[in-house]
Amino acid sequence: MKRIIQKVGRIRLVIIITLVAALLAIGLNILLQLIQGNELSYTALYRALISAIIIAPLLSWYLVGLFMRVIELEQKMQEWAMFDQLTGLFNRRAFLHRAEQEYTLAKRHNESFAILVLDLDHFKTINDKYGHKAGDLILEDFGQLIKSQVRQSDICGRIGGEEFGFILPRTDLNNSRLFAEKLLTTIEQRSISIEGKEIKYTASIGITLSHPYSNYKINNLLHQADRALYKAKSAGRNCYQVANAVS
Ligand code: GH3
Ligand code: MG
Ligand code: MG
Repeated sequence: MKRIIQKVGRIRLVIIITLVAALLAIGLNILLQLIQGNELSYTALYRALISAIIIAPLLSWYLVGLFMRVIELEQKMQEWAMFDQLTGLFNRRAFLHRAEQEYTLAKRHNESFAILVLDLDHFKTINDKYGHKAGDLILEDFGQLIKSQVRQSDICGRIGGEEFGFILPRTDLNNSRLFAEKLLTTIEQRSISIEGKEIKYTASIGITLSHPYSNYKINNLLHQADRALYKAKSAGRNCYQVANAVS
């Protein structure tokens, strides 16, 4: 039903329902008249047809509209369950789910893929200095920035407050480094205007690579990337580090 409504559209569906209702009204009316053994009354037929033509579109317009609203709400709920409201990126649960799927695929095809964990630098200070609302606007802006930077096949999600995960399928260490470098430069060059103030921010990144033959679970890989991120923070921030296992 959902597919039919989406494909046909409300107006066309109401027209179809009205035509079917009109045909049914005529058919049933003829059948009833035949059962009763009466001579066919064209007035009765005409009345049945007019009733169907008036009632069917009104009722079906309302019911199809209601059904469309339910479909819309269902889609919205699915979105809310998968996407982070502020950044528009996958939430942690959806990110991990997609990461697991990609990991299984990569293993099956003997491909490696990169996992990056990115954390915005000194975000607490930004909140303290410019206010929590400004912090939220930066996160919103960051979501837009990420969407413009990644490929469609890449998976990115907000996995913590100001922490983000990236899965780059079929990407080797060299290309992961290039991606991280480009991302850091783009973030560094970004400035966001909030209440007349230009706010700049930076990020740190931890990189790890999954090998097809590894027995690691996604969580192990995220921990590795997290440790590399910690190294990047210790190294002064606004930089990336690669996990020991793959450097
Ligand atoms: P570091 O460079 O070591 O990561 O420092 P940091 O200040 O970014 O890290 P810390 O973990 O001390 O603080 C994270 C801050 O991020 C604190 C928290 O209030 C803020 N934060 C987390 N989620 C949100 C959010 O949704 N909106 C805003 N405005 N701030 C957030
Ligand atoms: Mg931080
Ligand atoms: Mg953090």
